[in-house]
Amino acid sequence: MDYRTVLTTCPYCGSGCGMYLPVLNGKLGEPIPAKTHPLSQGRLCIKGWSAHEHVASHDRLTKPLVKTGSGFKETTWDEALDLVVTRLLELRDRHGPDSLAFLVSAKCTNEENYLQQKLARAVFGTNNVDHCARL
Ligand code: SF4
Repeated sequence: MDYRTVLTTCPYCGSGCGMYLPVLNGKLGEPIPAKTHPLSQGRLCIKGWSAHEHVASHDRLTKPLVKTGSGFKETTWDEALDLVVTRLLELRDRHGPDSLAFLVSAKCTNEENYLQQKLARAVFGTNNVDHCARL
């Protein structure tokens, strides 16, 4: 039997509450609030208590999907990212940079959000950047 607990940060919002995730034979158990965490001090909201559930969910997307005329088709990350880049460049060239908008997320790290707004501004030339916390 392989058992350990991993100190980590709740992935659901920017508050960043601390929790331990028990791992038994490679499977996640229910979070345990970290009592010594300076922000959450042993508390989690309802989203934090269920932070482990999506990992083993059968509904979880594990491969990129491309929308076609007849629904969604599984594809590789390389093909999906190539398609995104191609379509974004087409839209920018046809309708101008401000035809694009980039939404960042509280589920990302600060560094990832920084890179996303840099991509929007420096590469695609738009200041249309927003964040899920405002939605
Ligand atoms: S436990 Fe709730 S408040 Fe804390 S980070 Fe997770 S979602 Fe945010």
